[in-house]
Amino acid sequence: MGKKKVVIITTGGTIAMKYDEVTNGLVPAISGDDLIQAVPALKDVIPVEIVEYSNVPSGHITPDMMFELALMIDKIAIAEDVAGIVITHGTDTQEETIYLLDLVCKTEKPICITGAMRGASETGPDGPANILAAVRTAACQEAVGKGALLVFNDEIHAASEVTKTQTTSCSTFKSPGWGPLGHVYFDRVVFKRRMEKRQKIQPTTIGSDVYLIKCVAGLDDYLFKALAAKPARGIVVEAFGCGNVPPAVKEGIELVRKQGIPVVLTSRVHMGRVVPAYSYLGSAQSMKDADIILAGEITGQKARIKLLLALGLTDETEKLRAYFDS
Ligand code: ASP
Repeated sequence: MGKKKVVIITTGGTIAMKYDEVTNGLVPAISGDDLIQAVPALKDVIPVEIVEYSNVPSGHITPDMMFELALMIDKIAIAEDVAGIVITHGTDTQEETIYLLDLVCKTEKPICITGAMRGASETGPDGPANILAAVRTAACQEAVGKGALLVFNDEIHAASEVTKTQTTSCSTFKSPGWGPLGHVYFDRVVFKRRMEKRQKIQPTTIGSDVYLIKCVAGLDDYLFKALAAKPARGIVVEAFGCGNVPPAVKEGIELVRKQGIPVVLTSRVHMGRVVPAYSYLGSAQSMKDADIILAGEITGQKARIKLLLALGLTDETEKLRAYFDS
């Protein structure tokens, strides 16, 4: 068997940006090869191959692009000489992309996403160290079968648990309530736990038109009426606490449900499950007749990704619910 390599797929993000004097801000400027040139230590780890997918801020990445990346990764991973895959990606939507890859990709080879909080032209850019840690993880035998991973600031996080928690810090990625799966200590990759349950949703096409509505005090049903008129294919609601919404939102949910639009309930609180603990007006239990789907422990943005994928397989509420129950 020949020598193994890690394939690095570049998509853009701050990691590939430089300061532009004309616009007075960071703009995409760095090629895949430039990224690798900045990490000379890679040569002591494993050979790498670059595949340039895009060079855009992650706010420009769509679920369709994430899905295309997932298919691309599975194709690349078939080759025997590929040990693992690294994706470089903007941090803003990185948690959505890695969650989609975790659900969709068939390969058991390590898939690691990373990026940077500081642009390549800034003082102390974190991109090179993050690439090195991600490649080390992707090349490591222990990472096989652990699902898609987010490797950042020498921490290894599970796709379903990780979220961006700080607007500018290099230690922005955290898994609230869980902590990282492992750490990268210079040349050692150390896992301290594994995900007990890993889920797969593998449609041949991804759904579209799924919206996320965050509850705020006094929110009315205007957005629900607009989405009922559209009509949207699915709605994720970020409720208060363990799954409670204002009375007018309950009415909005009932309205869209009457049209058969699936509604998934998540919480705007960053830790814990949605639980139908109360029966007052607007509680998850009070919407029992509307047959809403409780999302479990994932965030609103991840529930949207999951619903988009599940809608690629079915429109039936009971079948959709099964993806959120497991
Ligand atoms: N706005 C950038 C992006 O998500 C932020 C980053 O990469 O850190 O592309």
